[in-house]
Amino acid sequence: MHETGLSEAIVAAAVRRAAGRQVTGLRVRIGGHAVDRDVVTQGIQVAAVGTVAADAVLDLVLEPMTVRCNDCGRSARVDDHLAMVACPRCGGVDIEVTGSEDVVLESITVDSVEPRAL
Ligand SMILES: [Zn+2]
Repeated sequence: MHETGLSEAIVAAAVRRAAGRQVTGLRVRIGGHAVDRDVVTQGIQVAAVGTVAADAVLDLVLEPMTVRCNDCGRSARVDDHLAMVACPRCGGVDIEVTGSEDVVLESITVDSVEPRAL
């Protein structure tokens, strides 16, 4: 996964939605990707430099993938990559990866002050 492009896309979406107001908070939901919270946080902070979102507080919600075993029916969150290869309970390899693979800018918080006229 390319965290840099992702971070830039999130910041760009927030800036567009803010419409010139200062962004004070960003809430981002990432589902289905094994991402490093620190890497994403840092990427967004770097991407936000020089934009109205530069001082935004980031609220990152990570939703890990889940896998379902079609042999025994076990369903669980993926906590290591082995769980995507074989079922930890029965050893079955008929594994289905479920869960959304979305990156969503859920909401932004903007300064209530109207943008200053130029
Ligand atoms: Zn199983």
